[in-house]
Amino acid sequence: MADSRTKKRCSFCGRSEDEVGFLITGMNGYICDSCATQAYEITQEALGDRKRAGATKLNLEELPKPVEIKEFLDQYVIGQDDAKRFLAVSVYNHYKRLLQKDSGDDVEIEKSNIIMVGSTGTGKTLLARTIAKLLHVPFTIVDATVLTEAGYVGEDIESILTRLLQVADYNVAEAERGIVFIDEIDKIARKGDNPSITRDVSGEGVQQGLLKLLEGSVVNVPPQGGRKHPEQKMIPVNTKNILFICGGAFDGIEKKIAQRLNTHVVGYAASQKTATIDKSNMMQYIAPQDLKAFGLIPEIIGRLPVLTYLNPLDRSALRSILTEPKNSIIKQYIKLFEMDGVKLTFEKEVFEYIVDKAIEYKLGARGLRSIVETIMMDVMFEIPSANQKAYEVTLDYAKQQLEKANLARLQTA
Ligand code: ADP
Repeated sequence: MADSRTKKRCSFCGRSEDEVGFLITGMNGYICDSCATQAYEITQEALGDRKRAGATKLNLEELPKPVEIKEFLDQYVIGQDDAKRFLAVSVYNHYKRLLQKDSGDDVEIEKSNIIMVGSTGTGKTLLARTIAKLLHVPFTIVDATVLTEAGYVGEDIESILTRLLQVADYNVAEAERGIVFIDEIDKIARKGDNPSITRDVSGEGVQQGLLKLLEGSVVNVPPQGGRKHPEQKMIPVNTKNILFICGGAFDGIEKKIAQRLNTHVVGYAASQKTATIDKSNMMQYIAPQDLKAFGLIPEIIGRLPVLTYLNPLDRSALRSILTEPKNSIIKQYIKLFEMDGVKLTFEKEVFEYIVDKAIEYKLGARGLRSIVETIMMDVMFEIPSANQKAYEVTLDYAKQQLEKANLARLQTA
């Protein structure tokens, strides 16, 4: 009898220590393994409910102002001032819209989705990634190339929001005020001029679907993404307050811009105007009608009222990209060597040489990394085992390494 009284028991279910797998001792009692597991599940559920109940509060005073947002972007992205300013203002206005209260004066701030046009490798995704670092709302980057019209191979439009839900930990209220960056929006442009002749499953149909999201409506989102299937429980998400930022290279759009500029400028005043057109950077003259000529439907263009562009990267921009950004390629290599206790330096001419090669082989900013990688590969292989405290990359060495490698191979990268 005495034995059963002295036996340790779970203070929750009352079972004795021989009846449970494991008993944890507390200050004034015990808990068995199965009660602990159950308690954990209950707390998780309660916390989840609280999270789902609402989004965290924003405070305008504490949010970064457009100038601060731009200054932050400047640390990582070279140039592209116009795009940075547009982005900074749009993000700030997005916060304001989320904070607007029903003031009774009928002034409702509407959202201004953005579209950024710029050749591949000029920093569109980098801008989006960088701005994400200081955002106070959920943010995700999705790729438009995987989207197809419902019923076809590929992903449904709604899957764009799955990612946002995931980032927001399935807190719907939080996701409903997030920001989505849709990359490669140009890939869903209508392929042909005549939309009715053939089915265009990854073109106009997708644009129609996207329109629904941009306009602001309640859409059913598959929580695990991919295709909608009957056994998956959908989560309704209202897109009214979600800010969409789109980016695309719009290859060949310069021709459309040039055509428009030529057809519109006729006569004396016009010929003066044409004289001032900077042909090396046609992107700066982009207008909504060029997007239409490229194959975006007017309704979509109307829902992307902020149109901005990225400049092509010239020589000096490429040179800056190599060393100036906070996590520039060169800084990354210096750090890699530092971890082996080696001080890495470069002869000044090496940087110019790398830029020369990137231009010569038309590799752009993305190619800079491949070139540096090619130059550094052998040193990186040997230096961790060599007993060396410093290493300088000379111009001769860089030349020798690149000549050894076949640079043309990088062109398709
Ligand atoms: P896009 O999305 O326009 O095709 P990315 O943003 O992916 O191009 O750029 C590719 C890479 O090139 C980036 O990861 C970055 O290393 C470099 N890069 C491109 N543009 C810039 C820029 N303006 N400033 C700094 N780095 C840049």
